[in-house]
Amino acid sequence: MATACGVLLMLTWQSYNYARSREKNHTERKELELAIAEVERLTAIDTLTGLYNRQHLHEVLDHETMRGGSGTPGFCVALIDLDHFKQVNDTHGHQVGDEVLLGFAALAKSAFRDIDTVGRWGGEEFLIVMPGGSQTPIDRLLVAVAQAALSSQVSELRVTFSAGLAHHRVGESWADTLERADRALYAAKKAGRNQCIADI
Ligand code: GH3
Ligand code: MG
Ligand code: MG
Repeated sequence: MATACGVLLMLTWQSYNYARSREKNHTERKELELAIAEVERLTAIDTLTGLYNRQHLHEVLDHETMRGGSGTPGFCVALIDLDHFKQVNDTHGHQVGDEVLLGFAALAKSAFRDIDTVGRWGGEEFLIVMPGGSQTPIDRLLVAVAQAALSSQVSELRVTFSAGLAHHRVGESWADTLERADRALYAAKKAGRNQCIADI
């Protein structure tokens, strides 16, 4: 009887320890998964603006191009370039320039749908990838940016941007779509800036 009780006690103790160690492993795995997700998020983000970075935009463009032609409505891209931005830096300093980039990013983020990807292509250039998108949100953003005080240090400062929009064509590489958007952007600059021109 005493032996049976001893064995029972030992088994209970072992199973208690086993349950505790399983719980600990589960917690550690969850913490590791969260840490990996955070690292993945950070590698996709531009440090100054908090928008997606160029590397992430490449991944989104790859994904959207692969989806194209499978019955989905396709996507369009908008290349955005701030107007006369060098002048902002030259007149008010790089710090004000950074503030303007940050302020523009906040307006841009709120102007598009959740399914759109808003990213910093580089310098004062931004790229929006819009599944089945249109020019309407860009025209709205043109008005919002032109009216906004984007720098707290120079409250009277106003900036504008120019944009080129291109719809992806079935079978086309995204690099070619972007090249058409870039040409449309150049046309918008030439036509007087503060506007969007579409290459459909
Ligand atoms: P345009 O209307 O033709 O686009 O003229 P622009 O002056 O905007 O174009 P340009 O290419 O001559 O100048 C771009 C400027 O953007 C120069 C560069 O110093 C500035 N710039 C790029 N990245 C950053 C940044 O991260 N912070 C700041 N403050 N300035 C930046
Ligand atoms: Mg530029
Ligand atoms: Mg510019």
